[in-house]
Amino acid sequence: MLRLHDTASREVQPLTLRDEGKVSMYVCGPTVYDLPHLGHGRFTLVFDVLRRYLIFSGFEVTYVSNITDIDDNIIRRAEREGRSEAEVAKEFEGHWWDAMDALGVLRPDHTPHATEFVGSMITTISQLLERGVAYATSDGVYLETTKVEGYGLLAGQPLDSLRAGARVEENDEKRSPLDFALWKAAKPGEPLWDAPFGGGRPGWHTECVVMSLELLGEGFDLHGGGLDLKFPHHENERAQAVALGKDFAHHWTHNGWVMVEGEKMSKSLGNFTSLTDLLASADPRSYRLLVLRSHYRAPIEVTTETIADAERGLARLDSLARRLHLTSPVAPLRRSDLNGDAAVIESFCALMDDDLQTPQALALIFDLVSSANTALDEGDQERATMLGETAVGLCAALGLSVKAAHLEIDADTLALAEARDKARDEKDFAAADALRDQLTALGWVVEDTPDGTGLRREE
Ligand SMILES: [Zn+2]
Repeated sequence: MLRLHDTASREVQPLTLRDEGKVSMYVCGPTVYDLPHLGHGRFTLVFDVLRRYLIFSGFEVTYVSNITDIDDNIIRRAEREGRSEAEVAKEFEGHWWDAMDALGVLRPDHTPHATEFVGSMITTISQLLERGVAYATSDGVYLETTKVEGYGLLAGQPLDSLRAGARVEENDEKRSPLDFALWKAAKPGEPLWDAPFGGGRPGWHTECVVMSLELLGEGFDLHGGGLDLKFPHHENERAQAVALGKDFAHHWTHNGWVMVEGEKMSKSLGNFTSLTDLLASADPRSYRLLVLRSHYRAPIEVTTETIADAERGLARLDSLARRLHLTSPVAPLRRSDLNGDAAVIESFCALMDDDLQTPQALALIFDLVSSANTALDEGDQERATMLGETAVGLCAALGLSVKAAHLEIDADTLALAEARDKARDEKDFAAADALRDQLTALGWVVEDTPDGTGLRREE
C-alpha cells in the first residue's frame, strides 16, 4: 500500500482508505482571474501523477478539484475591464483547461464551481452561527478560531507565532487576528447573494470545505494542494469541519514550492512569465518530466535551462520509442495491463509506494532505456522490446507520454537520407558512405532499416 507524508502528523504514513479499493481525493483548484502560473502547473502535475499511480495500482479514484469563480481579484478585474465577473471567470477558466490539456493532466471527475454551491455554504455558515463558533460583524461573518479544538494542527506552529504573523486588518471587530471570514458582506456595486446574515458572498475557505464534504462525504481520504495552501486555507477548511463536528479529510498532502533562481519571474531573465508562456515555448511534456525529477515535497527550479534539460531527457525516451516503434497509451494504465519485466515493475512500485520517490523511479526508467538500446545494438530485438515496453509503460504510469513519431527531422536532413537511399539502391556505396558521414557530422546516428535509412539522435 502507498505510504504518503501526512501534513497533520508530519509523518510518512500508509494511506488508509474509507472504502476498500477506492480513493477519494480533493485538490484545491484555481481562482480564475489571470493566466495559470508555474505553481499551478506543479501542483496539478503532482496530483495527476498521484492519481494515475493510484489507478496503476488498481484503485478506483474519485478526484474532485474546484474552480473559484467569485472572489476579490475577479471582481477587481471585472471592474477594471468593464465586464461581468462571469465573463472574466469564463475566459480564464478556458485558459486553465487549455493548460491542463497541454500538460496531459486528467480532467477531474467533478469540478465544482463556487457559485453553484452558495446555497450549501449559507446553510453551513448558519449552522456555525447556531453552534456559537461564528459571529457577525459589520463586514461579514467570522469563525472564532479560539473555539476550535486543535486549531493550528496543519500550520504546525504555536498559536502565538501564528497570531503574530497574521495580517493586520482594518476590522477591529475581529475577536482574534486568526479569525477568518466565512461570509463577506457586499460593498456597493459588488455581486451578492441573499442570506439570513446579510447580502454578500462566501469566503474562499468555506467554499472548499462545503464542496469537498458534499461531493466526497465525511471522512474522505485525501486533501491536497500546494504548500502555500497549508496555512491558512487548509487550516481554516479543517477548522470549520471540526466546528461542525464533521469528520474531514483523513490525510493531508502538500507539494513544494516553485523557485525561479530567487528572482522575480521575468522573460528578460530567461524565465517563464506564466504556465501558458512555458507551454507555448517548450514541449509541454518537459514540465512533467521536470516535476518528476524532484521529490514532490522538495522545491523545484523552473528556468529555460532546467526545461531544456528535461527536453533532452524526453528526446532519449522518444528516440528509444522510435527505434522500437512504441507509443505510450494516453489513458491511465493499470499495472495488470502492463506486460514487461516483472522485477523492474516491482522495484518501480516499491519506490512509488514509499512517498512517491519519483526521481529514483525515473532513474530506473532511464536505466531501462540504456539497456534496451544496448540490446538493440547487440541485435537482441526480443530483449530490447521487452525492456522498451517496460520503460514506456512505466512512463505511462506517471502520465509521461512517449512518442515514436515525436522527433522532427528537418527537410535538409531528410533530403540527405533520401539521397543515401538512392545511392544504395544504385549500389553506389562510396556516395552512400559519404552521405552517411555528412549525416553523422550533423549529429545523427544512421541505421540501416528495412525501410531505408533510419535516423535517431545520439543517446
Ligand atoms: Zn481549497
